[in-house]
Amino acid sequence: MSARAVGLAYCDARGRIFFDGTRMPLADGGVVREPRAEELIPAPPGTVSTMLPGRSPRSTRGIEKRRTALAAILPAGYTRLTVPALETRAGAPALPLFGYTFACVVDDELHVAAMRTDESEDWTPRYFGDGELERILDARLAGDPENRVLRQVALCSRDYGCFTAQNVFLERGEAALPVSPKCNARCVGCISELGQDAGIPSPQTRIAYETTAGELARIAVHHLERVEDGIVSFGQGCEGEPLLRGITIARAIEKIRERSSNGTINLNTNGSMTNELKRCIDAGLQAVRISLNSFRHDVYAAYYRPMMYSLDNVLASIALAVRHGLRVSLNLLAHPGVTDDEDEIRAMQTFLHEVPVTMVQTRTLNIDPHVYFDLVGRPNNPLGMRAAIDAIRAHQVAVGNFTHTH
Ligand code: SF4
Repeated sequence: MSARAVGLAYCDARGRIFFDGTRMPLADGGVVREPRAEELIPAPPGTVSTMLPGRSPRSTRGIEKRRTALAAILPAGYTRLTVPALETRAGAPALPLFGYTFACVVDDELHVAAMRTDESEDWTPRYFGDGELERILDARLAGDPENRVLRQVALCSRDYGCFTAQNVFLERGEAALPVSPKCNARCVGCISELGQDAGIPSPQTRIAYETTAGELARIAVHHLERVEDGIVSFGQGCEGEPLLRGITIARAIEKIRERSSNGTINLNTNGSMTNELKRCIDAGLQAVRISLNSFRHDVYAAYYRPMMYSLDNVLASIALAVRHGLRVSLNLLAHPGVTDDEDEIRAMQTFLHEVPVTMVQTRTLNIDPHVYFDLVGRPNNPLGMRAAIDAIRAHQVAVGNFTHTH
């Protein structure tokens, strides 16, 4: 890489950031290599730099033992292209669940290995004045004090900064409708519930009770009556698997459509229960976003650790929704070195050829890259994340990062 002056960005033990132009940093795309010029963009607004405690960065000169590795956390709307190449030192603490992205210095400016894949403005970082959010939450809660779901999304708005929860109160865009306290998978990087073996707490606390169709419908109708082109979505970060409560979702959809024909009713799910999805579709579900980390059985099972279902059920649910004319998005939990492995891209293309979904959302998988590679293995032949995205687009399938109504 000639033209631009690329150098190592790293931290000291106190987390202060430094640049060293004499070192060519190494990136990890499943195979450790130099970053490619076309992968690097100036760090976009909203990027957060973070030190990786107990980890040393790697450069073409070797392991930078006296330095601490640095990574970037991207804002919404970007797809990560590589992760940092690093050496984990003995006794290093477990890393929390974030989307660690390769970062370096180029011409004295922090750059990241990423590409913009969604232009939706509704997901740009939000800033509230003192007490402003609290006032908005309290005013709405006073209007429906018995609604436990409203209290839950108020907590998620305040404590987790969840956009779809805040949208319930801001009366805009996509609004959250959490419904299920249980799940039939045990994802290694679950954001609402992690096992003791994870060594880190889950970023959010899963709801503890079964919400009712009435509570859900009241929130949805309020939103759809006020938000043109509004979306209400069952299946949120603070819950388990919504299809375990397919009957309640179907009842809620019927109650919503008795009172409002506006907007879109969407479901975010792991797609495990095809019959329950059919029940929701028969009730009037219009859009679905189904999550998966891979189109390969072994890679899927290693991460999702499914109970009483397999990737076959997930793929059957996607096909069912496409056959019934729903707006179908895949929430592809993307990770460089896995999503762009030649075998993965081939499996994905075979599926998309048979089942043309509307959109693939390339969602950054939040996990320690070394934990993930140990779990699913390193690639045989990584072709680069840009190649994976091109492969999706080659099937006339849109690539994005958020649920759109059209
Ligand atoms: S499917 Fe969702 S709720 Fe269930 S374990 Fe995975 S991330 Fe968690």
